Amino acid sequence: MNNVTPSDQAGWLACAAALTIDAGLFIDGRSGPASSGATIDAINPATGALLTKMACGDAQDIDRAVASSRAAWDDGRWRHMTPRARMDIFRLWADLVERDAADLALMETLSMGKPITDALTIDLPETAVTIRYFGEAIDKVSGIVTNSPHNAVHMVTREPLGVVGAISPWNYPLLMAAWKVAPALAAGNCLVLKPSEKAALSCIRLAHLFVEAGGPPGVFNVVTGYGQDAGKRLALHPDVAKISFTGSTAVGKQLMIYAGQSNLKRVSLETGGKSPQIFMPDLEDMDAAVDRAIMGIFDNAGQVCNAGSRLLVHADIHDEFINRFTQRASELYATGDPLDPSTSLGPVVSHTHQSSVLACVDQGLKDGAHIAVGGGPDSARPDGAYVTPTLLTQVTPDMAIGRDEIFGPVAALIKVQSEEEAIRVANDSIYGLAASVWTSDVKRAHRMVKALEAGVVWVNCFGDGDMTQPFGGYKQSGNTRDKSLECLSGYMQSKSAWFSLD
Ligand code: NAD
Repeated sequence: MNNVTPSDQAGWLACAAALTIDAGLFIDGRSGPASSGATIDAINPATGALLTKMACGDAQDIDRAVASSRAAWDDGRWRHMTPRARMDIFRLWADLVERDAADLALMETLSMGKPITDALTIDLPETAVTIRYFGEAIDKVSGIVTNSPHNAVHMVTREPLGVVGAISPWNYPLLMAAWKVAPALAAGNCLVLKPSEKAALSCIRLAHLFVEAGGPPGVFNVVTGYGQDAGKRLALHPDVAKISFTGSTAVGKQLMIYAGQSNLKRVSLETGGKSPQIFMPDLEDMDAAVDRAIMGIFDNAGQVCNAGSRLLVHADIHDEFINRFTQRASELYATGDPLDPSTSLGPVVSHTHQSSVLACVDQGLKDGAHIAVGGGPDSARPDGAYVTPTLLTQVTPDMAIGRDEIFGPVAALIKVQSEEEAIRVANDSIYGLAASVWTSDVKRAHRMVKALEAGVVWVNCFGDGDMTQPFGGYKQSGNTRDKSLECLSGYMQSKSAWFSLD
């Protein structure tokens, strides 16, 4: 269906019916079934219908994929290619992602319910930019020659690590994988990707496109399968030099254990969050602030690691904020068929996840919170895994709804009396991924940015940024940064070579 971008729901439905899906493992440049023949049902969460049967790789398949990547590493087919040749492949790879944008966007929407407009205007362009950014960096990274004694030359070079294992989540299936795959390959590594079993189709296509762009087979392999099985084997594999992970904090902790049990591989983690959005009474534009607060929690149905799920609102503007939020939430985010280009809120990823999100809301009510808006499934769409945009008020910092990551379209509003209390509540969390501050006082903004324990802080905005921005968390939100040149360094190691001239 390449190059076709329908403008209406009927057009997308027709494209979905005609979509060609390769749901096999991708090893050595070839697609094929799992060794065991097992499959995973890919279910469309908007309808509950079976989309396709995806190969369910296991430990044996991971061993095959790692052996393939290891062979590619050993014979140097990628790392010994000239930087310019690798850059050309990256450029073409990004072009092919753009060529197949409609197909790839459809795969995201059908697998995990993301509105097609979001997939087309956010996930796809950002994936192409990610590939271009790291491709452009390939010949810009250099080592150093130090100021050594007169009878020596000392150089520090930067080298790739070997075979990298990437384990990615389902919320931005293609983009989160690209944030790992592109820098790992740009640094000269070979790679095995284990995407989420819930949404892997676009990741498989990404690897096909790499080979179509001229990437040597075996350099980028994909094994779809369950985390407990395929993911665990990848993380325990003795030939894997690094695991790069995005997903939950609980699984991140497990991966560190696997590294200790195997070869002490590096483990970089991008994990969960419960990001505070802080609204002070001196904010400049209440309407704009509330609209951004709404986007910050309801985009992608709240299934965003940095979702601004804790609204810390000063008492002076508390009631006005809630009134405006309640009015605007359903105007900006009404549930709909994700294949309809006008839809801004699709279903959550699965019916199981829908139940878990609604159970968190119920717990919040039992603990004393109130529902200002939403709080249930969409009765007009009983087959889909929908949750209506939800605001819970009268939340206190000790309630689970105000502390735990829900990963759905649910905001918890906590009233605060002062800047100091806002900071104290914001930092009272195991997480520290992102935060925002809304104020027109520049001194207050600087004070609060310094005081917040978060890897990313936005002032008078939320979610803004580009590829130059290191993205990652403090505390149990992770130990690394994606995007930016800082991220590229994480896929390299330094070698110090001291030449004696005596
Ligand atoms: P998850 O942890 O359940 O799964 C992530 C990946 O880990 C999947 O591919 C899964 O198969 C694999 N996995 C599961 N158990 C494993 C095991 N024992 N060994 C090896 N691999 C295993 O997370 P999810 O539900 O896919 O994604 C949602 C989570 O991801 C949320 O917590 C969210 O905050 C986080 N996330 C973080 C960022 C970030 O940049 N910090 C970005 C997106 C998502």
